[in-house]
Amino acid sequence: MIAQTDKEKKHRGINALIVEKDMDGFVIGPKENKLGIRGSDTHSLMFNDVKVPKENRIGEDGFGFKFAMKTLAGGRIGIAAQALGIAAGAYELALKYSQERKAFGTEISNHQAIAFKLADMYTRIQAARLLVYQAAKDKDNGDNYDLSGAMAKLYASQVAMETAVEAVQIHGGNGFVKEYHVERLMRDAKITRIYEGTSEIQKIVISRSILQ
Ligand SMILES: Cc1cc2nc3c(=O)[nH]c(=O)nc-3n(C[C@H](O)[C@H](O)[C@H](O)COP(=O)(O)OP(=O)(O)OC[C@H]3O[C@@H](n4cnc5c(N)ncnc54)[C@H](O)[C@@H]3O)c2cc1C
Repeated sequence: MIAQTDKEKKHRGINALIVEKDMDGFVIGPKENKLGIRGSDTHSLMFNDVKVPKENRIGEDGFGFKFAMKTLAGGRIGIAAQALGIAAGAYELALKYSQERKAFGTEISNHQAIAFKLADMYTRIQAARLLVYQAAKDKDNGDNYDLSGAMAKLYASQVAMETAVEAVQIHGGNGFVKEYHVERLMRDAKITRIYEGTSEIQKIVISRSILQ
């Protein structure tokens, strides 16, 4: 017999269940009015004393916690990729704008203050890309991706936020106007630091992994 760890014992009672839409006590809340990712609808799901039959349990009794953690770990790579896409999109818009907009007699990309922002963005995006690819590679190879996924999500979401804020800055006043799209990327970037585990939670995962 294999001895159970304290953690396994603690989470023994947690199960994953399939709740069907028409079950009594299951309520879908109204659509949330969000800061960003407004093209994707979000609703709260409420469960009030819902009775779910045993047949709707996923896996063995007690499998739920492990299942939830694995789902979250995999999802983190997806959110890291989303963040990377937001960062790359914001950078491309900023690069293009900086080569078109003239101020003080020259394209703003010729001002070192702007060129250095682009250099920082490009470098950080490339670093985030490598972390995302590493996590995806670990998952594809069947290796453990808890640490690499958490690092990719933590860093790529930070880069998305920083890059989008700087892209708005490079656009000047136009960055604040919806027509130029960078303000939308700035709003969209924020959620990548929150869902699928906040940045603070990623740091808990990473530090636990390196300190074990
Ligand atoms: C648009 C959107 C879509 C979502 N989609 C889904 C979904 O599909 N499925 C789903 O299950 N959830 C979803 N969520 C919920 C989302 O995953 C949670 O909001 C997120 O995980 C943070 O949890 P919380 O809101 O309870 O924040 P809290 O846990 O209340 O955290 C508040 C603050 O405290 C910090 N904090 C909390 N605990 C600690 C700790 N131990 N140490 C240090 N800091 C800590 C957090 O990092 C955060 O800064 C969604 C949320 C949004 C906004």
